[in-house]
Amino acid sequence: MSIQAHVEQVKQEIAKAAIAAGRKPEEITLCAATKVQSHETIRAAIQAGITVCGENRVQELVSHLEVDAYAGAQVHFIGHLQTNKVKQVVGKVALIQSVDSERLLQAIEAQAEKLGIVQDILLEVNIAGEESKGGCTVDEAESLATLCGTLDHVQLRGLMAIPPISSEPGANRPFFSAMRQLFVDIKGALGDNQSRMDCLSMGMSGDYRDAIQEGATLVRIGTALFGARPPVIKG
Ligand SMILES: *Cc1c(COP(=O)(O)O)cnc(C)c1O
Repeated sequence: MSIQAHVEQVKQEIAKAAIAAGRKPEEITLCAATKVQSHETIRAAIQAGITVCGENRVQELVSHLEVDAYAGAQVHFIGHLQTNKVKQVVGKVALIQSVDSERLLQAIEAQAEKLGIVQDILLEVNIAGEESKGGCTVDEAESLATLCGTLDHVQLRGLMAIPPISSEPGANRPFFSAMRQLFVDIKGALGDNQSRMDCLSMGMSGDYRDAIQEGATLVRIGTALFGARPPVIKG
């Protein structure tokens, strides 16, 4: 199957899941998780209708930006971001989805201030409390959200989560549901003037239908668009 066909199929599945949940298909953004894909594949995906690409590794981001591979789409950073690499990411992407510590948040603020811009971000929450994973705790998310309200060069747009890779359909529903509740709580706590929170990023190839059911506004899909990736070292 061509990339075009995969993109169309995933969009149809998203629309179906949205309608089943009593939601509008337009409420959900499809973000293509482009890790390990080539410049050419990314261009083909955008040609096929992808409007948002999510990149995991700074090195790949820089390499794709150099040749303008994302032309015609937005880029989000969705991987673990080290503080010493923020310079290569801030101002280069529309949204940093993976902010999970005060240190990283302050580093982004400092770089955005230097550039004279406001950087949109999401807070990544380790909603299943997995040892091996990035993301902050629910309590930390609440305090980081409050901190965002005091920073002039960072705009909090919402939350992101990567629950366990699910083998069972429906297994991650409780995590998605907890994320949605946290999203509502934080948004409420921030009040109208602070809050431009409109993005709840959750759901991957194995579980995006469930995530949409539970309120995701952005799903990050790799495998279902590009096929299985060769095994890589986590980073
Ligand atoms: C790779 C990746 C995805 C997509 O995963 P698939 O299971 O291939 O759809 C989504 N989000 C993040 C943060 C990723 O690293």
